[in-house]
Amino acid sequence: MQADVIVIGSGIGGLTAAALLARYGKSVIVCESHAIPGGAAHGFSRQGFLFDSGPSFFAGLSDSNSLNPLRQVLEAIGETVAAVPYEPFGYYHFPEGTFAVYGNSDRYKAEIAKVTLQGAQEYTKFERELLRLYDRLRQIPAMALRADFNLIPFLLSRYPAALLNLLPQLAIIQASVGNVARVFVHDRWVQRLIDLECFLLSGLKADGTVAPEMAFMLGERTHSAIDYPIGGSDALVQALIRGLERWGGTLRLNAHVEQILVERGRVSGVQLRRGEVLHAPIVISNATIWDTYTQLLKPTDLPPAYRQRSLNIPVVDSFMHLHLGIRADGLNALTGHHVVVHDAAQDITVPGNTCMISIPSVWDAKLAPPGHHVVHAYTLEPFAGWQRDEHYDARKRDRSQSLYRALERIIPDVRQRIVLELIGTPLTHAHYLRRHQGTYGPAIAAGKGMFPSTHTPIAGLYRVGDSTIPGIGVPAVAASGILCANTIVSPQQVAALLKQSFNSQKILEN
Ligand SMILES: Cc1cc2nc3c(=O)[nH]c(=O)nc-3n(C[C@H](O)[C@H](O)[C@H](O)COP(=O)(O)OP(=O)(O)OC[C@H]3O[C@@H](n4cnc5c(N)ncnc54)[C@H](O)[C@@H]3O)c2cc1C
Repeated sequence: MQADVIVIGSGIGGLTAAALLARYGKSVIVCESHAIPGGAAHGFSRQGFLFDSGPSFFAGLSDSNSLNPLRQVLEAIGETVAAVPYEPFGYYHFPEGTFAVYGNSDRYKAEIAKVTLQGAQEYTKFERELLRLYDRLRQIPAMALRADFNLIPFLLSRYPAALLNLLPQLAIIQASVGNVARVFVHDRWVQRLIDLECFLLSGLKADGTVAPEMAFMLGERTHSAIDYPIGGSDALVQALIRGLERWGGTLRLNAHVEQILVERGRVSGVQLRRGEVLHAPIVISNATIWDTYTQLLKPTDLPPAYRQRSLNIPVVDSFMHLHLGIRADGLNALTGHHVVVHDAAQDITVPGNTCMISIPSVWDAKLAPPGHHVVHAYTLEPFAGWQRDEHYDARKRDRSQSLYRALERIIPDVRQRIVLELIGTPLTHAHYLRRHQGTYGPAIAAGKGMFPSTHTPIAGLYRVGDSTIPGIGVPAVAASGILCANTIVSPQQVAALLKQSFNSQKILEN
């Protein structure tokens, strides 16, 4: 079988690249190892409950002015996703009390001022600095980006003023959030708040997180809508698949790629586990960098030093997960997003100390049978030491307790309400997501290195997803798909698509 492009994996990064390349007129086949598409963003159902396996914090899905790269891609492939806007974004539960997180900047600062007046004033200056960066970055749409020498001429020809405006921002673009915060924020409570916000974004605290990442998050939260897709994260995956298929692409499920075929330094296709060979001059791997370079290529396919450098990239831990179906009676005031920090004396990154909770059936009641809610709670957990031996079940239950304690801050009698309980460990995460050590992604701290690009040393082989630039998270991996797809086609094709896309047209006129 022959195609122009084969994409290994149907994560958001892989589907974005695939759908866009199909939109550009390429014949595209996506091979997904699992029976369910979406990778970390897949949805799954049990006994009438529809769960998000991973992401549930989104922004800009229902706002045509959003800069969310995923939204821009959906627009380019003629797709939309219905989403429910909501506010506040969530609640942070610290040992000393609960704190509402609003997208609206004034309300957010008013909440901070309830804890520390001085801190709120400092936060205002910090926020202003990052929003200034967001304002500059928003003048260049993600859909216009590419990862080759054509980038600068392309941007210069279309967005000269925007590029000029970015020049004074070069220092902050390369800075960490910690660098920016240190200039303005001296209040310890606000410093911890910023660390927590960064940790939720990148898996690293303020010193490890790049400033543009937080600028983008704050900008979208403040200027666009915080919203949840009707149907859960699976609705995003299905919209990308509809777009892929509308433009002639194909998704093959249960199609595990065993090997990327390389002949004389150039990619020639892939071999599936069942032996079938698919030929293509371009292959895009959405598997992580570690999986791609150890499982899918032979060691001799890559220059040894490059391979070693890539495999040495540090990983963020994996996760413990609780997916629960619970009775909803008496929970009329329940809200959807919560982050619980158990112990102020411990670092927020210590496994089990910071727990994320999402109850999306408060926005989309169809995710649960009538009278019930779906709950997803998760916390970091190292992969090391986990094995399926006689202690596995006991350990699993033991390590899920911090999630239960977190949930009890929101729903005190949660244990009595359970009608369905699924506990996931790093082994579950690694298995269902096909990810090296079940990792959240690369732990590349700001100033300590860059996320690898979409290019590889093998001609015709590209990579997308959260182990490529710009990094972890649904908007970021959608941007990685754009960067890859646009690099494969000519600048003229990108310009033509930008013109055809309504939202991009507005941005072009900027
Ligand atoms: C618990 C959790 C919560 C999160 N919450 C949020 C959030 O609220 N908001 C947010 O924006 N982001 C969130 N994220 C991050 C975000 O979900 C991920 O960064 C993103 O979805 C990763 O997408 P990806 O394209 O890198 O690929 P992945 O999702 O890793 O998908 C890769 C795909 O490739 C397939 N594959 C791998 N190897 C092969 C092979 N050999 N053959 C065929 N197929 C293969 C896999 O099965 C998988 O489907 C969260 C992540 C997790 C884990």
